Amino acid sequence: MTQRPYHIETMISAKAIAARIEDLAKEIRQAYRDTDKIVVVGLLRGSFVFIADLVRELEMNVEVDFLEASSYGSGTESSREVKILKDLRGPIEGRDVLVVEDIVDTGHTLSAVLKLLQSRNPRKLETIALLDKPARREVDLKATWTGFEIPDAFVVGYGIDFAQANRNLPFIGSVVFDDEVPEAGGKA
Ligand code: 5GP
Repeated sequence: MTQRPYHIETMISAKAIAARIEDLAKEIRQAYRDTDKIVVVGLLRGSFVFIADLVRELEMNVEVDFLEASSYGSGTESSREVKILKDLRGPIEGRDVLVVEDIVDTGHTLSAVLKLLQSRNPRKLETIALLDKPARREVDLKATWTGFEIPDAFVVGYGIDFAQANRNLPFIGSVVFDDEVPEAGGKA
């Protein structure tokens, strides 16, 4: 399948992401201050870079586990079934859990994941999302911590892909299709 030509415009620089993560890590440490150890649950695959940077800023005991929920195409149905493709390796009953998501968009994924994890009776269950697109929300939900609120654009980079490409970009950028870019200067 041929890909429509596109380019990527920087939305959030690597430097801005690093600074925000430092602040978020301080808030998280504070919120979990009476805890021995937290279980960081990363939602694959988009959050893998964010988790790697976040846990290195968390000066506390951390375990890392991963969960993969099914992603979906660009459909707009308001009720979607979210399937668990890869479950956690360890139990979370009685544990202090922090779920790490790349983007909260409609909210269906995080909502389904939280429902599942809550049923396993953790002691504490909080969430952090690097990005939030409030304009797209279909489920009433907000992560405990949010890195950046962004407009309704399709973003890539910093772990987040477009057709499996661009995950390795160190910044967050928006995908702009070349045939949608207005011509410079336009017509008189
Ligand atoms: P939600 O269930 O909140 O609608 O969707 C969350 C998931 O959709 C994210 O974890 C991510 O995988 C995907 N997603 C939402 N917005 C974007 C985007 O702008 N770019 C990419 N690559 N994935 C997105």
